[in-house]
Amino acid sequence: MARRAPRAITARELTATMAYLTERRHATRARLASAVDELLLLAAREHGKELAHRASVEVATAPDGPTWDVTEHGTTITLESYAVEHDFRGQVIYQAAHEAAHVALTDADAGTWIDEMLATRFAVRVMEAVDPEYARQTIRSLLAEAELMTPREMRRVQLGDDEYPGGFYGRAFVTGQHLEGRLGWTALRRLARPGQPAGTSDLTSWFEQLDELQRRSVVVALGAGPVRAGRPRRLLAGG
Ligand SMILES: [Zn+2]
Repeated sequence: MARRAPRAITARELTATMAYLTERRHATRARLASAVDELLLLAAREHGKELAHRASVEVATAPDGPTWDVTEHGTTITLESYAVEHDFRGQVIYQAAHEAAHVALTDADAGTWIDEMLATRFAVRVMEAVDPEYARQTIRSLLAEAELMTPREMRRVQLGDDEYPGGFYGRAFVTGQHLEGRLGWTALRRLARPGQPAGTSDLTSWFEQLDELQRRSVVVALGAGPVRAGRPRRLLAGG
């Protein structure tokens, strides 16, 4: 199986995002909307996703953002109003990249830690391209935060509208780093189910396609193997 790191995202392919980040005056909503469109297309391409009816996205702000939403009327990415109004552009793009990854990847009703892992890693990769200092600081704080939660605890977090417990994003990011380091990006990316529209990742069937050595790496990174819903907890590796 090919082990390769993900291709580095470059600032050159993020022209609308760079235009937003480097606007001399207060960045406009129009520039922000173009940046979000660009990030969404890139998130879809990086993970091999079909955007279908999610291709057109509206950008909103709210005090309790960032979040994303898909309804029959359309797709919305809602950014934190404080960051947008105070023109904290690095923070805005980091949020937008994370939510764009969700629009490309995540089932509207059933996100999992896998979605958070992929979205957090995508957002960090975008920042590495457009604002390396922001990326360095973010990675530092994600690594520190990861200490607050074990992989097993991360997998038990109930995802919903509530704020996630401290350490969750850090642990998700670090888990992605571990998996990618051991399996390579090509294998990790299959968790995003390339070629299919946004939906829920199937950890168990992904795991079953791995060889024995890779499965062992996954069990180490996750603290346990995948467990089939509705069955007693057990390690699938070796059983
Ligand atoms: Zn998220």
